[in-house]
Amino acid sequence: MPFDHALNIQPSTSGDTGAATQQLLDDAGHSILFTAKRPDVVMERGAGMYLWDTEGNKYLDFIGGWAVNALGHSPAVLHDALAAQSAQLIQVSPGLYNKPMIQFAKRLTELSGYDRAFFASSGSEANESAIKLARKYGSVHLNGAYEIVTTLGSFHGRTLAMMSATGKPHWEPLFAPKVAGFRHVPFNDLEAVEQAVGEQTCAIMIEPVQGEGGVHPADAEYVAGLRKLCDERGILLIFDEIQTGIGRTGKLFAFEHYGLRPDIVTLAKGIGGGFPLSAMLTHEKLNLFEAGEQGGTYTGQPLAMAAGSAVVEEVVRQNLSQRAEAMGVFLREGLQPVAERFGISRIRGMGLLVGFDLPHPVGSELVSAALANGLLINSPSPSVIRLMPPLIVTQEDVSVMLQQLALSLEQVMGGLN
Ligand SMILES: *Cc1c(COP(=O)(O)O)cnc(C)c1O
Repeated sequence: MPFDHALNIQPSTSGDTGAATQQLLDDAGHSILFTAKRPDVVMERGAGMYLWDTEGNKYLDFIGGWAVNALGHSPAVLHDALAAQSAQLIQVSPGLYNKPMIQFAKRLTELSGYDRAFFASSGSEANESAIKLARKYGSVHLNGAYEIVTTLGSFHGRTLAMMSATGKPHWEPLFAPKVAGFRHVPFNDLEAVEQAVGEQTCAIMIEPVQGEGGVHPADAEYVAGLRKLCDERGILLIFDEIQTGIGRTGKLFAFEHYGLRPDIVTLAKGIGGGFPLSAMLTHEKLNLFEAGEQGGTYTGQPLAMAAGSAVVEEVVRQNLSQRAEAMGVFLREGLQPVAERFGISRIRGMGLLVGFDLPHPVGSELVSAALANGLLINSPSPSVIRLMPPLIVTQEDVSVMLQQLALSLEQVMGGLN
């Protein structure tokens, strides 16, 4: 049984009282640097599609660790791989090879059709690596061209450079001075990119589906046009597949939907199933870094490599990409009657990355109501809801989610319509 943890769902036995939880929340309020508004619950345990808080309340998880828990919570294969690897070897110097690093690089390049893999711990780092490689390419082959064209509404991470790469207008004034060398153009607008590409351009970077931007897939003609433009100008096409990669969109990699290949692909989130892991894949012709130009203490970290291998192998073995495709269709169809009832529009997405528009900007109220009803959903902007459940989600889970969603919508919008 692949997900035996999920079959043995027990209520919390922590015995925490309301007072103990309140103490934890007070401690959080006094010790954790504020970076995010979080609800007054403390998560304690997960299994399959469900999470439990310290009060023993159960939540059906359609956020999935932010599109991360591809195999659900605490899957046996990941737990076992980490236990076995941690008994064997936890960390070696990045200056030395280790076995799981070589094995995982070989497997990922086989599965993706790329030649070379670089590993890091977070999505932002994988994107930094892609930008550095594109600039290296510019310095070697394009007379020092360094500019990267990215899109409005994109999200590429929270390091200084990735905040500059990201196309969120309200981030523009933050943390000045910005990292130079990024130009933002409207998404799905080929003409705008053509105009933005100049002598100084070395690459174009997009998300095949803008995730944080509200679940907006790139059009097929747009992506084909970008590939052609890059080929004509001799510049690189980079796909940020941190959210879309490893089965999420119904293919192992989202680029497969478009029948073409970017020059560089970045992966994170789902690839580690919850363990911090990211990767950058590329072709042999971009095997360009000199020793020391790129690296990191945790590149090829054995535990991360064991986690990534276990997750990717399980996604392939169970064909969770195909499952994501089928469940995505089931989910979007199931949303139709709810949408009609509540005035929801533009149900969209690819595979199990699904978004829709609310008729009123009540996203955060809806998220709170859903939480109280035992359902986790995400609102990337006030009028948009995003669903990104684990790839193991069943039809029954979707049915339960739809009921809880409808109940929450009724509570939040009952008075508005
Ligand atoms: C989450 C995300 C990132 C950033 O990844 P981190 O692991 O948070 O650094 C970058 N790009 C996309 C498309 C993402 O969804």
